[in-house]
Amino acid sequence: MEIHHIGESNSVLNTFISEIRDYEIQKDSLRFRRNIERIGEILSYELSKNLSYSAVSVETPLGKKSVQLPSNDLVLCSVLRAGLPLHQGLLNYFDKAENAFISAYRHHPKNNDEFEIIVEYFAAPEIDNKTLLLADPMLATGQSLVAVYEAIKKYGTPKELHIVAVIGSKEGIDFVQKKFPQNTHLWIAAIDDELNSKGYIIPGLGDAGDLAFGTKL
Ligand code: URA
Repeated sequence: MEIHHIGESNSVLNTFISEIRDYEIQKDSLRFRRNIERIGEILSYELSKNLSYSAVSVETPLGKKSVQLPSNDLVLCSVLRAGLPLHQGLLNYFDKAENAFISAYRHHPKNNDEFEIIVEYFAAPEIDNKTLLLADPMLATGQSLVAVYEAIKKYGTPKELHIVAVIGSKEGIDFVQKKFPQNTHLWIAAIDDELNSKGYIIPGLGDAGDLAFGTKL
């Protein structure tokens, strides 16, 4: 897997990352969602440099100009529900992409910290031979991404696979790296060192779904 750690170099991206982490600023859920969306836009821009391009002639009122435009058939697939603001950020730049949604949640069968991932809902267009962008903001243990990928594989085989994440843990990235095809790309804004016993990223930001959409039962 090729890891593109975009927040590693200094840019305005780090302003948005620091705001989604900030305990006071993240209380404003509109700003939290918008910051995730802005991070999605920056990751899209970086990812776009890796797409295939072909020449297209554009007619202006005064003449013609040949421009190189992305030629991939893109499908954006987001993991519900935390993936929604990130999905919007990707869609702001890849506005002609098709869209897919998949649900994944942690089920705690023994009512302790152990959990399994339940994937229930999947709505997608044809994905065979297309370029699939899989968006999940928090790459914590990596288990949801792997469970989601296993479900998608039954449905079709994309030509290229790009994972888009906001914050990841080193452990989760290592796990995903072992389970995804070698030619997968990971576009990630920030990488943190640790996970806690509940599988949350430390320092991370907390629960991205709750911060974007409110606490759940
Ligand atoms: N999901 C989140 O929203 N945050 C984490 O730290 C881990 C999983």
